[in-house]
Amino acid sequence: FGGGRAQSRGTAGRDLRYTLEVAFEEAIFGTEKEISISRPTLCGGCSGEGTAPGTSRERCAQCDGQGQVAMQQGFFTIARTCPVCQGVGQIIRTPCSTCNGSGKELKDAKIKVKVPAGIDHGQRLKLRGEGEAGSGGGPDGDLYVQIVVKDHPVFVREDSDLFCDVPINYASAVLGTEIEVPTLEGKVSLKIPAGTPSGKVFRMRSKGVPVLGSSQRGDLHVRVAVHVPTRISHEQREILEKLRSLDGDIPTQDEKGFFEKMKEMFS
Ligand SMILES: [Zn+2]
Ligand SMILES: [Zn+2]
Repeated sequence: FGGGRAQSRGTAGRDLRYTLEVAFEEAIFGTEKEISISRPTLCGGCSGEGTAPGTSRERCAQCDGQGQVAMQQGFFTIARTCPVCQGVGQIIRTPCSTCNGSGKELKDAKIKVKVPAGIDHGQRLKLRGEGEAGSGGGPDGDLYVQIVVKDHPVFVREDSDLFCDVPINYASAVLGTEIEVPTLEGKVSLKIPAGTPSGKVFRMRSKGVPVLGSSQRGDLHVRVAVHVPTRISHEQREILEKLRSLDGDIPTQDEKGFFEKMKEMFS
């Protein structure tokens, strides 16, 4: 019985894709989002049959319901997909007016998406069976949710580590100080020892991103940058002029040996 055969075979629904934008913190701590998609769903007018009410599919006369026709090619007989029923084995004489015989209609669906803590930009989530509906008993397709993480004004993320630049003044870098730095859980104070060079990175353990599927967290790397002002007051100018007269134009302490190397280059 041809109809039964086509029914059991079915066609799998296609996979669908959706791009989901999440905030920086949402990707780090996880969130739940409701998304709206328009997806091909079994037609309500015909329950996916594709036939008008009171009518049914007929066995395809061309292939006798087999979905394939035999073609003679030289000595060989080759089976090809039936051109009349496109391999279904059945034809629809009176199509359903809602879906025009396709058995599917676009329906808006609201789907809850659990975004796990620690997910990163570019990763994707697979929601099994949330894609296009299968037909003729075939399985439903899957929905792939592509994650796009928005930039953060202060933090840059690299896997489970966070990076941030914090400006400090020259005097504080020389004399040492205590500054407030941002973390995901709010501001914390960070001790800057005397003689901290610009670009020095302070690692704050476990202040980064939770590692996906684990209780561990990455680190926060705070890089201090000595701020050079573009506008200074009269008083600041006087002090700096005095400082320069004491320091000279180039550093007298040459920790990296730069001026020594330069001297060798041109000797
Ligand atoms: Zn056919
Ligand atoms: Zn229909």
